[in-house]
Amino acid sequence: MTAKTRCKLCRYDTEVDYKEPGFLEKFIDRRGKLLPRSFTGNCARHQREVSRAVKRSRNLALLPFTR
Ligand SMILES: [Zn+2]
Repeated sequence: MTAKTRCKLCRYDTEVDYKEPGFLEKFIDRRGKLLPRSFTGNCARHQREVSRAVKRSRNLALLPFTR
């Protein structure tokens, strides 16, 4: 990916893993809701991966549905 992208996950070539709630915390707000793309700067692909990972993580009780 290009160096100038706004998406941090592209820039640092990060793997999105549902087993890392500490990392996924960065993409949810204080209420536990998923943050919008306009806020995080994620690209479409990574926003999709993050959203999938957060949902998976919630089902495993690693992240809260709400708080
Ligand atoms: Zn990206």
